[in-house]
Amino acid sequence: MKKEIQKAEKLNTMGELAASIAHEVRNPLTVVKGFLQLMQKDDKDQRHPYIPLVLSELGRAEVIINDYLNFAKPEFKQLEHFSLAQILSDVCVLLNALAVKQGVELKREGAAEALLLTDRNQLRQALVNVIKNAIEATPSGGTVTVSLSLSGDQAVVSIADTGKGMTPEQLSRIGTLFYTTKDKGTGLGTTVSVKIIESMQGKISFKSEPGKGTEVTLKLPLHKKMNISY
Ligand code: ADP
Ligand code: MG
Repeated sequence: MKKEIQKAEKLNTMGELAASIAHEVRNPLTVVKGFLQLMQKDDKDQRHPYIPLVLSELGRAEVIINDYLNFAKPEFKQLEHFSLAQILSDVCVLLNALAVKQGVELKREGAAEALLLTDRNQLRQALVNVIKNAIEATPSGGTVTVSLSLSGDQAVVSIADTGKGMTPEQLSRIGTLFYTTKDKGTGLGTTVSVKIIESMQGKISFKSEPGKGTEVTLKLPLHKKMNISY
């Protein structure tokens, strides 16, 4: 028991350290990005063709840093009532470009509506991470289906893909910090999503079969004010 507590404290300190480094690094990155964008504007005759590449790598660094910050210290800035159906549609529109690029059909199903009260941006982030993984796991010609239904006092979101699926061993590691099977993966996305959903007093579960696909189910309490302390 004592060991567990010590471990938790250690993790917390590491999290704080990581967060402060991430925070400090983010500012100079923003400055560099700004100047590069200016250079790109001035470079009409394309003497520096590598600028888009540098900008895209900077964008990647930014995403990683933001994920770290979110993991170490998710901030629930603003509680508001919003439509879950609307957020799901927004996120699907946002990720459709990625799906099209991969030859994956991203479908939004179900006409249910759910009103939630929580931080909209955090929920959006949690959904983006999970749906992005589904698209990334699905080969060209496959489908990712995002649906919403209601069950008692809970909203149920299902994200089902026809992708490569996970073995029981992989499934047991999902959500563990830094667990990734991708070349350029960070292993942060799922961990952040789990943390966000759980801090909204929701539940997230994964069902998967290798070669067949994965279904992620999110359950979120309806209406009721969500506890935001951790
Ligand atoms: P990353 O996407 O950077 O690898 P994540 O935390 O988002 O990190 O995901 C961790 C790992 O979980 C992925 O690398 C992948 O192996 C596995 N995974 C997550 N979602 C799916 C899915 N829908 N289908 C198959 N594998 C998945
Ligand atoms: Mg991911």
